[in-house]
Amino acid sequence: MSDGRALAREFLEQQRLLGGNSVILSDGRTAGPADAAASDSRTVGRSDGQAPSQSHSPTVRPSDSTDLPPSGLSYDPPGGDLFSADPLHQASLDAVATLVAACTKCRLCEGRRHTVPGEGPRDARLVVVGEGPGRVEDETGRPFVGPAGELLTKILAAIELRRDQVFICNVVKCRPPENRVPQYDEIAACVPYLFRQIDVLKPQVILAMGGTAAQTLLNTKQSLGALRNQVHRFRGVPVIVTYHPAALLRNPNWKKPTWDDVRIARRLLA
Ligand code: URA
Ligand code: SF4
Repeated sequence: MSDGRALAREFLEQQRLLGGNSVILSDGRTAGPADAAASDSRTVGRSDGQAPSQSHSPTVRPSDSTDLPPSGLSYDPPGGDLFSADPLHQASLDAVATLVAACTKCRLCEGRRHTVPGEGPRDARLVVVGEGPGRVEDETGRPFVGPAGELLTKILAAIELRRDQVFICNVVKCRPPENRVPQYDEIAACVPYLFRQIDVLKPQVILAMGGTAAQTLLNTKQSLGALRNQVHRFRGVPVIVTYHPAALLRNPNWKKPTWDDVRIARRLLA
């Protein structure tokens, strides 16, 4: 899996079978199929202007050519090697937090005081996903420690879970200004961290609190009202959708349905 050369070889072989016949390197050199298949660096980027001797080989251009590259396969990904391992791929929970702490992938990095990656035990059976850090979370670097967090602790107690038994996190790891709803591009930039956390934890149940968490995990625009009171799945893990505790603080009428939802989550926990 982590062998970039093997991946590159497989990719190039696939492209050859699909009819590609040259690879344009990022410095403008061109490599033909024999080069790719043999991965013989001595024949890559010949600068004598002569094609290799194989009958199906493309023209090899001098490296100082200012012409447009010949048609063929162009491979020059922004930001590095297509086959280099994404550090998030293999990241532990601690490593995710470290990557988040240094992250500048979206504009929310500008106003933050602390990143809030999430916290909880490695063996948590329940993962709670909120929307994004609020003021107190931004000040402390910890999720759900403000007023909404106090209510979350009570909700968990009602299903006989202590806060420290649950992994608690958010869709975005930096506070949106004035607690506004995270924008689509911010969620898109941040969500790989959440997905990696869930992949590492392999929880028995995910509790999505609020529309942002539910719509992000379930990849839908459906309203929270339409999504709650049923069992969904994220990568095989059951997902229960319910109201966000901050919304419950504003509207106590939603406490009863929230109670019903978390009891479904409780039943799913082995
Ligand atoms: N609201 C959230 O969605 N997350 C927190 O961590 C705190 C408040
Ligand atoms: Fe990075 Fe997420 Fe913070 Fe944006 S919100 S800067 S993607 S950690």
